Amino acid sequence: MPATERLYYQDSRLLEFDARVVSLSELDDGQIAITLDRTAFYPTGGGQPTDTGTLGDARVVDCIDAENEGVLHIIQGPVPEVGDTIHGKIDWLRRLDHLQQHTGQHIFSAAFIQLFDAPTLSFRVLERECEIDVALENPADERIEQAVDLANQIIWESRPISIRQVTSAEAATLPLRKEPAREGELRVIEIEDFDFTPCGGTHARSTGEVGVIAVRSWERAKGQARIHFMAGVRVVADYRKANHTAREVAALFSAGREDTPALVTRLIVENKKLGRRTDELEQVACRIEAEELIQQAHISNPSASPSGDTRMTVIATVFDDRSADSLKHLALALIAHSNTVALLGSRDGDTARLVFARSTGAAGDMNALMRQACSVIEGRGGGKADMAQGGGKNLEKLGEALNQAAKSLA
Ligand SMILES: [Zn+2]
Repeated sequence: MPATERLYYQDSRLLEFDARVVSLSELDDGQIAITLDRTAFYPTGGGQPTDTGTLGDARVVDCIDAENEGVLHIIQGPVPEVGDTIHGKIDWLRRLDHLQQHTGQHIFSAAFIQLFDAPTLSFRVLERECEIDVALENPADERIEQAVDLANQIIWESRPISIRQVTSAEAATLPLRKEPAREGELRVIEIEDFDFTPCGGTHARSTGEVGVIAVRSWERAKGQARIHFMAGVRVVADYRKANHTAREVAALFSAGREDTPALVTRLIVENKKLGRRTDELEQVACRIEAEELIQQAHISNPSASPSGDTRMTVIATVFDDRSADSLKHLALALIAHSNTVALLGSRDGDTARLVFARSTGAAGDMNALMRQACSVIEGRGGGKADMAQGGGKNLEKLGEALNQAAKSLA
């Protein structure tokens, strides 16, 4: 089978073409693939995603580079017959986006070489951004932004980009940025007075078409810098989104965009301080609450009064919306009183919480009681003989679990 003539090699702006259907096949997953005698569809490869578009009345959803067997066009819709001549149409906005990202990468990678002699090891166009791995020593914001500045300078000079078909002997005389991946005749992309790279992708006609390059984020990865950047239309889309977010946050403070980092930092510091203060106040409140609970217990059951005999005071109470920490604070305040057992529960959202504790000298194994109670509320818990915690999902049975525990102590 003859290889497909690849029209995109010569003209990345060729968006419509006519071609003859050479073969039809069904792939393992049931999709229909057709090959043509010529195509302007770029298939996935070299870090650049596939073109999409139409062939006749069918949608082209993917293109696969089958090397010598040509380009496989995966189609959905009416299937043509072998020998038919059909009209192909490329989705221009998708091609433009890929062309900007891909050409942008040539320029950005060359900038890293020129400034830091740092080669690019791999490149991917992702859904929202592009990713390159650069062998950059001591990566830092300043160094990366320096490369961004140089790349944008080259973009705004609108330097011509040309395609040269050269023999391997000719290629050997050119200052190629990377080793060619294949033998024999080579396709070299030249950015005037800046970069020579062998490449089979689709490129802008001049650097100006790339528009602009911006870095979104970067991280160190195995002695390299993994850099997320974007070019052209993606930069505008990302700026719009980032600006929207920044303005929304600023509006919450009735402040300007640039002032928000300091305002958010202040809020976090204040929040931590308030959290500590709330903890202190909660402990004070728990001490008072504990006094009241013990007094009420003595009023309703005078025989438990510490002045009369040595019977234990058992406080068994269920609260609403009380966190595990808050229950624990109250339990600790209760068992600061002698001969006291605290059996506390809380309906905290959709969780039933339990804290059991006893003061030194009071009777009862809190761990054993907790395990029993947790089986009632369909949960888990445990601890030591004098303090145990647990939780479960059966809120309805919280009261029953506490009653059972109290009875066990009687
Ligand atoms: Zn390229």
